[in-house]
Amino acid sequence: MTPSVAQPRSLDDAVEALRTAIDPTVLAGGTDLMVAINAGSRRPTSVVSLIRVPELQGWHRDGDEVVLGACLTYAEIERGELASLVPALAQAARTIGSPQIRNAATLGGNLGTASPAGDSLPVLAALDATVETIGPDGVRTLPVLEFVTGVKRTALRAQEIITAVRVPVLRGPQEFLKVGTRNAMVISVVMAALVIDLDGRSVRLGLGSVAPVPVRARDAEALAEGSVDWDTARIGDQTVFGRFGELAAESTAPIDDHRSTAAYRRHAVSVCARRALERALR
Ligand SMILES: Cc1cc2nc3c(=O)[nH]c(=O)nc-3n(C[C@H](O)[C@H](O)[C@H](O)COP(=O)(O)OP(=O)(O)OC[C@H]3O[C@@H](n4cnc5c(N)ncnc54)[C@H](O)[C@@H]3O)c2cc1C
Repeated sequence: MTPSVAQPRSLDDAVEALRTAIDPTVLAGGTDLMVAINAGSRRPTSVVSLIRVPELQGWHRDGDEVVLGACLTYAEIERGELASLVPALAQAARTIGSPQIRNAATLGGNLGTASPAGDSLPVLAALDATVETIGPDGVRTLPVLEFVTGVKRTALRAQEIITAVRVPVLRGPQEFLKVGTRNAMVISVVMAALVIDLDGRSVRLGLGSVAPVPVRARDAEALAEGSVDWDTARIGDQTVFGRFGELAAESTAPIDDHRSTAAYRRHAVSVCARRALERALR
């Protein structure tokens, strides 16, 4: 059966289309959803396309935060002013798919899919991003670590959509490292996103593809925070970098699958975390 397709032109119309449609499926860039439909694993009865909703496009600055529309594409994230405000997210965006994919695929779609290998997710975790939603119960705001609840599972309720993601603009270096089985067009085996907040004197490490949900490596963060000379933004004790990597690996719960072994993932996390900290604070 061919699904009905609604193409709302405003957020109000999108909310109304979701409320009135029978078991609606949301479509943004379609780079995950259309793959699933073509493979026969999803058969929507009705589709609500968000891609023409102006309120979900682009990004804007709001004080010391940036508000990223759910339909913001990786092509928009990877360059320009936004890339300088949230460099780790831009680095992650540059590793995603191909230029064609990055022109279509959206941040909201990465969150909606909630794959453990979603490249934006460890960055958003490191940034303590919040996800804004709208639905029949009104507007909600959730920390990203509460939004992603399991492998391809989210806290989204029926007929609810992501409208935006809020991330802080922080002063300090940021790094994103990704390991895959080749250099491009690759699903992550491991990701590490490091964010240094020089004003808040915090070190935040988000990890991906190493557990059902994105992970924050709290023990590694505490070690690094206690080792930084915040006046120079440097770590003098050279043993800290290796220990940081070890603690990062200990915070993961990886699995063996067709892309990697759990043991290799633990090793790769320790290397990526150490390198990220060396680049940022050595
Ligand atoms: C060739 C190829 C390469 C890829 N490479 C990568 C990669 O390197 N890294 C990576 O992370 N991903 C990759 N992907 C996956 C995909 O591109 C991303 O997950 C992308 O962010 C999905 O966004 P989209 O707009 O296309 O989502 P869609 O396919 O439109 O939707 C994805 C899911 O999210 C839901 N959804 C979308 N928008 C919203 C919203 N606003 N509110 C609620 N739910 C919503 C949809 O209902 C659907 O369940 C790749 C895909 C392909 C086909």
